[in-house]
Amino acid sequence: MQSNIPFNKPFITGRELDYISGLIAEGRLSADGYYTRRCSQLLEERFGILKVLMTSSCTAALEMAVMLCELEPGDEVILPSFTFVSTANAVVRAGAKPVFVDIRADTLNIDETLIEQSITPRTRALFPVHYAGVACEMRAINSIAEKHKLVVIEDAAQGVNAFYDGRVLGSLGQLGAFSFHDTKNYVAGEGGALCINSPDYIERAEIIREKGTNRNRFLRGEVDKYTWVDVGSSFIPPEIACAFLLAQLEAIDEITARRREVYEFYRENLAPLEERELLTMSRIPADRQSNYHIFFVLLEDPETRDGLMAHLKQNGISAVFHYIPLHSSEMGKRFGYEAEDLPLTEDLSARLLRLPLFPDITRDEQMRVVNCIADYLGRQGHSV
Ligand SMILES: *Cc1c(COP(=O)(O)O)cnc(C)c1O
Repeated sequence: MQSNIPFNKPFITGRELDYISGLIAEGRLSADGYYTRRCSQLLEERFGILKVLMTSSCTAALEMAVMLCELEPGDEVILPSFTFVSTANAVVRAGAKPVFVDIRADTLNIDETLIEQSITPRTRALFPVHYAGVACEMRAINSIAEKHKLVVIEDAAQGVNAFYDGRVLGSLGQLGAFSFHDTKNYVAGEGGALCINSPDYIERAEIIREKGTNRNRFLRGEVDKYTWVDVGSSFIPPEIACAFLLAQLEAIDEITARRREVYEFYRENLAPLEERELLTMSRIPADRQSNYHIFFVLLEDPETRDGLMAHLKQNGISAVFHYIPLHSSEMGKRFGYEAEDLPLTEDLSARLLRLPLFPDITRDEQMRVVNCIADYLGRQGHSV
């Protein structure tokens, strides 16, 4: 009996436990301690980001980013429907309306050519999501934002250590959000960060993150007591999670290199199936650098996708689809959307399958995935 191949397995560097046991031995559990500061410094320095605030999740960072935009009821924010619920929830929780735009067939990112026709006098922000660690068309998106005076918030949950024009994703708009959830590349179990790329937002972001108080200014000695100054919540991560995360961030090059090898192995070994037009592989446009977060294939139709997924499962291989489009969900319908409104999102999401991709997957295991796919698609009467 062959062992099961999971879809994902977090990579452990070995230093996580050392860092955490040190904290426990010294009783230094309070938040915003040494490891939280080291994580934000490492991200600021390595990626040249003006200010990074560590958060309890990317969801928390997205909510902070939207709060910083001071939206009013009736305001609109443009985002893809092919994304995780947190992107849309951040908008809806602020009382604004999510306006969904269709995606591109190549990267599955928001189709920048469809953005302008969705802009109304109530549009306040653009919310690009970098799917799979591959950048959106940020030059076009930023110039639309400039022309219409909109804020750009990047959902860079999957974009840590991926680049566009030499700049890390999350640093190209005014605000960006990272995720360190255990399904992402560099993990803390749960964790995130808000990237602030415009100085105007820093002070208020610190206040929002500290329950609406000026505690950070107090800790820096800028005020002699701290008090409630604005609306906020607790968006702060546990110090223990940041100790775990620092070990991961210190190994960012190793983790990325291993993911790259896995990604390229799939591309090489699935190429014959693509040549026979049995599937389309994910690809990275030459002008941007990925972090190899996801390797997906697009099958001919939803039935083939579902059949292949079941076949892989029978063979102990966990391959998974991704987002149910938000616009056609129960919540999306409440905003007046119908499934047909975004045809590419509907079509592509129903034909997409993500293959196991994690640093420790072996070549034998990957070959089993490839052979199992070839076996199934070859039997579908498609043979050349
Ligand atoms: C994972 C993910 C999130 C949420 O991240 P959490 O850290 O789990 O809150 C948001 N948006 C996208 C696109 C994601 O992939």
